[in-house]
Amino acid sequence: MASEALSNPMRFFVLNKLREGEHDTEFSRTSSNMGPALRCPQCGNTVGALSWEPPYQGDLEFYGQAFGDLLKGPSGLLITERFAEDFKAEGLTGLSGFHPVEIKWVRRKGRGSKPGPPPAYLYVTLAYGHAALDMERSRILSKKPMVCSWCRYVGPDAIDGLALEEGTWNGEDVFRPRGMWGAVLVSERFKRFAGKHAMSHMAMIPIENYIKDPLGLLPRAET
Ligand SMILES: [Zn+2]
Repeated sequence: MASEALSNPMRFFVLNKLREGEHDTEFSRTSSNMGPALRCPQCGNTVGALSWEPPYQGDLEFYGQAFGDLLKGPSGLLITERFAEDFKAEGLTGLSGFHPVEIKWVRRKGRGSKPGPPPAYLYVTLAYGHAALDMERSRILSKKPMVCSWCRYVGPDAIDGLALEEGTWNGEDVFRPRGMWGAVLVSERFKRFAGKHAMSHMAMIPIENYIKDPLGLLPRAET
């Protein structure tokens, strides 16, 4: 729709690591020095998982044929050094930290050849605090009403498309939105960057098409 396109010119995507595929790699931390979670400056509720403090150490489980460029980390992400260098070189924003992670052990899972040494991984945390979900236009099923206009937490039971509130995005290319700190959103620029550099082990779904329905509450689409 033209009016929709005009009023909402920027596109955003939910970033997920891939579950399967030839770059399937999983990380689990073996160091457990944790710090406090972020708190909402307005209501004081936690708006994130516990922070991960040094030393940054962990193991990899290797399911695929090659190591992935993006792994889920504790309260953040693990990215390869080449990802980090390209990300910075192209002037993208929204990641911080870039702490080297010591990989203690690589476990081969499933069938396939023995992996070589893993690439260098860096631990990054994500921007949070500016971009916010438009709770009217996002289709979020929840039993709880929104009580805080800053963190906008509702504890979703199901999601059938998300939308950002206009004017809240400040240009970050990777961020967690207020309203759903567990989600990782990326800009169109990030999507182009990931494609251009063939970054592996990630999927990007337009936020308006993002569906999460673990309890089967949404009307079934015909399949
Ligand atoms: Zn709050």
